Amino acid sequence: MEAKQETHQFKTEVQQILNLIINSLYSNQDIFLRELISNASDAIDKVRYKAEIEPGILGEDSEFKIQLKPDAIKQTFEISDNGIGMTYEEVMENIGTIAKSGTASFMEALEHAKGHETLIPELIGQFGVGFYSAFMVADKITLVTRSAGVDVNKAVKWVSAGDGSYTVEETEKANRGTTITLALKKKEKDDKDYTDQWTVRGIVKQHSDFVGYPIAMEVERDEPLPDEEVIKDKDGKPIGATTRKVMGEETLNSMKAIWARNSNDVKDEEYEEFYKHLSHDWNPPMERLHLKFEGTTEYDALLYIPSKAPFDLFTPERRHGIHLYSKRVFIMDDCKELMPEYFRFVKGVVDASDLNLNVSREILQQDRLVLNIRKNLVKKLFDLLDKMDVEKYNQLYDEFGAVLKEGIHTDPDSKDKIATLIRYKTTKSEDSWVSLDEYVKNMKADQKDIFYITGDKLSALINSPHLERLKEKDFEVLLMTDPVDEWVVQSLTEYDGKPLKSAEKGDLDLDAVDETKKEAYNALFGFIKGHLENKIKEVKPSSRLKDSVSCLSGDTWDMSAYMEKLLKASGQKPNEVKRVLELNMDHPVVEKIKTLFENDRDNPELKDFSHLLFDMAVVSEGGKLDNPARFSKMVGDLMSRAMG
Ligand code: ADP
Ligand code: MG
Repeated sequence: MEAKQETHQFKTEVQQILNLIINSLYSNQDIFLRELISNASDAIDKVRYKAEIEPGILGEDSEFKIQLKPDAIKQTFEISDNGIGMTYEEVMENIGTIAKSGTASFMEALEHAKGHETLIPELIGQFGVGFYSAFMVADKITLVTRSAGVDVNKAVKWVSAGDGSYTVEETEKANRGTTITLALKKKEKDDKDYTDQWTVRGIVKQHSDFVGYPIAMEVERDEPLPDEEVIKDKDGKPIGATTRKVMGEETLNSMKAIWARNSNDVKDEEYEEFYKHLSHDWNPPMERLHLKFEGTTEYDALLYIPSKAPFDLFTPERRHGIHLYSKRVFIMDDCKELMPEYFRFVKGVVDASDLNLNVSREILQQDRLVLNIRKNLVKKLFDLLDKMDVEKYNQLYDEFGAVLKEGIHTDPDSKDKIATLIRYKTTKSEDSWVSLDEYVKNMKADQKDIFYITGDKLSALINSPHLERLKEKDFEVLLMTDPVDEWVVQSLTEYDGKPLKSAEKGDLDLDAVDETKKEAYNALFGFIKGHLENKIKEVKPSSRLKDSVSCLSGDTWDMSAYMEKLLKASGQKPNEVKRVLELNMDHPVVEKIKTLFENDRDNPELKDFSHLLFDMAVVSEGGKLDNPARFSKMVGDLMSRAMG
């Protein structure tokens, strides 16, 4: 065969990650083996599933196996599988780049971690660099792979020393699957010897015992000598050796499915290792839930809540949620039908004995059994969250609260339950989470509503002029800073019988407005509105300001400023909502403008002041001015006049 070798450069971010790995900022090198075994096991899962739909694809090669071959003389370590393999395109897509959707955010996080190098291992762990972790122990990696169902002998070879480039070429391979050969780095004195069979056995036992396919290795063991070969003395007692060294294949893992075992028999370490295998996360999970259901719907489930949000939590391509099995046979990964989107951070396995192995995703969606399981699991997860101690739950909420909250909008059946689980920072609690129950408990005697305000920055919200009067009355306000909160408040209109009310919309109904005073300002307000006609829909006395001069508000059913910003950021063009300019009648500036206006309506300053009142309202809520230069010039003029 004509082999054409191509050399490619790693993408910059891949090489950067490789450098981190090669320079071993991650301390536990053993896990390279776990990662390679996990890839091999995934690859076998895939071909096995494919064979359900395309029988015959396996051919003669139907006994699944992962084979390890350490070689002390050559100082190499080889791992082979008869899984699905990869085509040329797949190698280019999966191995030359880091295809993970979270790479960008990972690099960003890495940038932030500069100067805090101790954080980097955790970051790498959270991101999981799978295949590339082999560069912790190898100088050079050679991968040869043949895709299932591809013409006999057509295979691909990928080689790299992790130094900026890799080569790819066509090659031959006798059977389906992937073989990876590591040229091991020269050992320093404390390094482990990965060609030593006891070292390898130990790592497999520790990290990969539950893998569902045999992990086999040629090992040397003692075999009894046949009697006639044993040398004996005259009493028949052996004087020489009674055993001999032979090479034989041994399966290193027990292959016991953790979820099918009795939870009393599973050690914490085993649960943890299984989580890492399943989730591709290198950090231990925060919580686990091992369930066995008997009765009409019979199934085992083992669910985990990660300790850290993965980088791809908010990207559509994210995977690795719930794996579906039937009687310990893998059916599919990322079974979205078993878990609502707002629990997408939950990882685990569901093994339902009554499921058909050929089940397709389309059928799953309507399957009563699947729906039932999902309902049960959701209930059990809610129970788990309810029972968690405050500190741990807050930690969970830091990581996944924004996801969980989506359920209020998307799942009417669980809306009320989720409402008990949501938490907010508030004007009285900037640093720690407050539940709606606590909020309601702390409401003032004369307070009828649950007040909230939405926006993207906590610091801007907490100082928002919209909250001045609320603060004066000592009413607590929920500070909502997640985009999803806009949807939460659309669906959650009340809690415990108390309406949720936006601090920046509608009338706050805090105190009766002084009608005579309002009357007196009518003409001025009309005049200001005249100057701002195309920017606002109304000028009115404020029910929410105390110290500030002006702010912008909306009518109860208007879109909030934050929502408008979100929609625009997502590329939509929402209908422009004109807002209400609220002026503080008790503020000396407003009073003085009134005097100015009553003395001479044609005073040109009045027009400037009208614009300034509007611009100040925009600035105070962190908005963008249409004409910032004019604003700054006007303020400059005023300052120089004030200083004489
Ligand atoms: P992950 O396993 O999280 O996807 P990895 O870096 O471990 O990330 O692997 C990247 C991809 O390379 C895998 O998703 C898979 O498509 C491919 N791959 C790796 N090892 C194998 C293998 N032994 N057989 C087939 N494909 C593999
Ligand atoms: Mg992997």
